[in-house]
Amino acid sequence: MTMGKLDGRTALVTGGCSGIGRAIADLFAREGARVGIVDLDAARAEATAREVEAHGPAAAGAGADVSDEPAVQAAIARIVERLGPIDILVNNAGIDTTHEVDGMPTDMWDRMVDVHMKGTFLCTREVLPAMKAKGWGRIINISSQLAHKGGRTMAHYCAAKAGIMGFTKSLAYEVAPFGITANTINPGPVDTPLLQALPKEWLAMKKGELPIGRFGRVEEIAPAALLLASEEGSFFVGASLNMNGGDYMI
Ligand code: NAD
Repeated sequence: MTMGKLDGRTALVTGGCSGIGRAIADLFAREGARVGIVDLDAARAEATAREVEAHGPAAAGAGADVSDEPAVQAAIARIVERLGPIDILVNNAGIDTTHEVDGMPTDMWDRMVDVHMKGTFLCTREVLPAMKAKGWGRIINISSQLAHKGGRTMAHYCAAKAGIMGFTKSLAYEVAPFGITANTINPGPVDTPLLQALPKEWLAMKKGELPIGRFGRVEEIAPAALLLASEEGSFFVGASLNMNGGDYMI
């Protein structure tokens, strides 16, 4: 049996049923981690966990809207009960909608901020005590290149993703003394259901802008999460990893 980079670790991936989160869950399992998946639909989370478990030691799913405090607490407790305390948290759950600021419905704004910022805060707060007790932990937050770049009709998304970045940097100060790192991953456009739901004209325009001439694949994002999650990632503190096909070079 070859050694995995995450042998003995327990990871939790929010939004792990689809796209980038699913690819991270699969890669972490292949690298030896027990993987918990929290997603909106409990049955889907459990079914995904069974698939993820096929190439890893163990997996468990639980349903929660990451912006719902009691639901988050219950879901994480359920995962911990089955897999043990969380060593690695990937705050990945996300949504995308488009609207100009002029006329944007307030509930569209609120939902965006709640899922991304409140969800990241709630899940992080829930796992920190056990990480501190162990003296080791990894918080990996999925932001977006659009936090830096901005995006037409996406002010709410860009604000929420920039909020995640500020949160992560401040968190990194707080937790580094406890052997815990906090970092963001800022993907460019990656071919997932979230991206494909955007207007066709936007997708065509975006593809035309990309130096690489194509959208990213989820398998091209997951290795960055593995690096941050692994022992080798220990010197990344409050960092932003940008993989975006050249869409935004910083
Ligand atoms: P996706 O739609 O394929 O997957 C998102 C998952 O999150 C789904 O399984 C969904 O059910 C879940 N989810 C949504 N809202 C939730 C909630 N409130 N509580 C729990 N689970 C919830 O999307 P994806 O493209 O894989 O996106 C994953 C993350 O990557 C998101 O945070 C997204 O903003 C970010 N991102 C995506 C791209 C891209 O181009 N795809 C680029 C930059 C950043």
